[in-house]
Amino acid sequence: MKETLRRHAALDMSPDEFRRAGHALVDRIGQFLDWIQDRSNPVTRGERPTQIRSLLGNAPLPRTGEPAGDLLEEASGLLFDHSLFNGHPRFWGYITSPAAPVGMLGDFLASAVNPNVGAYDLSPVATEMERQTVRWIAEMIGYPTTCGGILVSGGNMANFVCFLAARKAKVPWDVRKEGAAKGESHRLRVYCSSETHTWINKAADLFGLGHNAIGWIPAGPDQRMAPEALRAQIRADVSEGMTPLIVVGAAGTVSTGATDPLREIGAICREHNLWFHVDGAYGGFAAALPEASADLKALSEADSVAVDPHKWLYAPLEAGCALVRDPKMLIDAFSYHPEYYRFDEHAGEGLTNFYELGMQNSRGFRALKVWLALRQAGRDGYEKMIREDCSLAAELFRSLASYPEIEPLTCNLSIATFRFVPSDLRSAGKDREEYLNKLNEALLARLQSGGKAYPSNAVIGGKYAVRACIVNFRTTSDDILNLPPLVVATGREIDAEMRGKKPL
Ligand SMILES: *Cc1c(COP(=O)(O)O)cnc(C)c1O
Repeated sequence: MKETLRRHAALDMSPDEFRRAGHALVDRIGQFLDWIQDRSNPVTRGERPTQIRSLLGNAPLPRTGEPAGDLLEEASGLLFDHSLFNGHPRFWGYITSPAAPVGMLGDFLASAVNPNVGAYDLSPVATEMERQTVRWIAEMIGYPTTCGGILVSGGNMANFVCFLAARKAKVPWDVRKEGAAKGESHRLRVYCSSETHTWINKAADLFGLGHNAIGWIPAGPDQRMAPEALRAQIRADVSEGMTPLIVVGAAGTVSTGATDPLREIGAICREHNLWFHVDGAYGGFAAALPEASADLKALSEADSVAVDPHKWLYAPLEAGCALVRDPKMLIDAFSYHPEYYRFDEHAGEGLTNFYELGMQNSRGFRALKVWLALRQAGRDGYEKMIREDCSLAAELFRSLASYPEIEPLTCNLSIATFRFVPSDLRSAGKDREEYLNKLNEALLARLQSGGKAYPSNAVIGGKYAVRACIVNFRTTSDDILNLPPLVVATGREIDAEMRGKKPL
């Protein structure tokens, strides 16, 4: 390059420097991927927050810059040595999947080109690739491909987008103009089971309905919403002059993976002219399996569905996806045409400006990592991975029967829950349950900081449980069968400490 064309900006990198730093980084990441798959390496080192904080020190912002390559080397060291590795084959906590390697590279490529996928004109091919991604996601889970949809940062945001589309469609006044508050005589209502993820609390709060608008329908002993209770609650609210808007059903609850009776919930929504939303952030993609339950497949009847590619599509964080049956409902909920946006030139060709379909304005190209992963695995590859995750959870659950000190609790989709119960525990009733809850809570904490395996917890009918959620394409049967003996050994150790016994 001619010297007069070079500005020497502090952030620029010469092509040579970029290649050197980039190749070195890819090599480091390659080593990291080998390292986390060696089962003798820990899922986490369980370091204390103060230890982690001291790694960075508290120096002020440096006055002068440093070479990018050195910094990438330093950052790699920090992250590879002090993270919790959800890419480790024995990570089964929460619902956080390993990142598909092609997705890692996809994010790199996306930020290299850096299209702003808010407006078509700023991102022509990226916009079309996102549209294709949305269509393939709908197709995969059996939802009409004529739906509208948009990629967002995760399940919460996907549920919010659907919630706002529903609010606009069902509130009997111009809610975008007048707001959601119209006094006592117009109390709006949304319904969901008591097992619903906290996104619903945030949505009711953020979007002006308030928590009191939520009609919590108790889940039965199977963790599923009882449809008769839903019907009765809607009737009671209507007779009090309230305005029901939305019913939320879960395609896989976050705690135990239970799927609500979606067919019946859909029928109730049609009877009462309510918006039927399905939260499929965890389990939605399991509807792709031919053997999926009829209830799971009934998400196809919903007015909107939220799914989470950063869970069962194994996309690196962040990627959620909102699908809305009638694409016009998304436009109705989000579109504005300000003076400073003149993106109408191709009107008539049906182009998409994603800023009109959701909450963001400028948007990154998060669709690329999902598009690449969908192409790399194909439908068959995904079905096999999801099916195997579910089989591993079932295998874990079956194996628990041979451990007299483990009480199996639930197994749905790819989540198994259970608890440790010492064989010589004599107390009964409330004392016993309180002790077991404390014991299992301590047990989980020790498992999590120990780094040999990483489950998380659930509370099921008041019982504190260890919960293994297999959304991990690296986990094998051998990995999963290591968990029960580890739970028993750790449980005995903690029980001995808590009851002041000599360890066995
Ligand atoms: C994970 C999850 C959410 C929240 O999704 P994020 O991606 O964490 O925002 C909501 N609902 C269910 C059922 C989930 O499993």
